[in-house]
Amino acid sequence: MDEKTLAAKREAEKDMMLEMTTIYCRGNHKDAKRNGKKLCPECAAFYEYAAKRTDKCPFMSTKTFCNQCPVHCYNKTYRPVVKEVMKYGAPRMCLCEPVAFVKHFTTTMTSKQKLANEAKKQGITVEELKELNKKEALAQLKLANAAK
Ligand code: SF4
Ligand SMILES: [Zn+2]
Repeated sequence: MDEKTLAAKREAEKDMMLEMTTIYCRGNHKDAKRNGKKLCPECAAFYEYAAKRTDKCPFMSTKTFCNQCPVHCYNKTYRPVVKEVMKYGAPRMCLCEPVAFVKHFTTTMTSKQKLANEAKKQGITVEELKELNKKEALAQLKLANAAK
C-alpha cells in the first residue's frame, strides 16, 4: 500500500472512530456537558487517545477492526472502552451513517483480500502471514513507544 493510500486509510479510521464515539456518547452520556462540542470530556479524552493509537498503528495496511487485532495496543484503561464503544456504535452506525459504514466495510474487505493475496504470493497461509506481521508490528510498537 503506498503512503498516500495508507494516510487516507488512517484518516478514514479516525473519522469512523469519531462517528462511533459520537453515537456512543449521545446514547450513554445524555446529561453530560458538551459545551457545544460533539463529545463529552470523557469521550473526547477517549477519542484523542484512540486517534493517537491509529496514528501509530503498525498494522494500518492490513488491519481490519481493532477488536480483531492480535497485538491490541490500547492500555488497560481504554481497552474495555474501545470494545464498549465499538459494540454500541458499530450496529447503530450502520443505521445512522450507512455510507460511512459501507465505505469502512469495503476497505476492511479489501484489506482482507490483500492479506490473502500476499500470503499466496509468499507461499504461506494467512495465519502464518498474520504471525509474521504481528512480530514486525510488535517490534515497531516497541520502537514507537521508546520514542514517546
Ligand atoms: S495496533 Fe491493533 S489495536 Fe492498536 S490501533 Fe492498530 S489495529 Fe488497533
Ligand atoms: Zn460521552
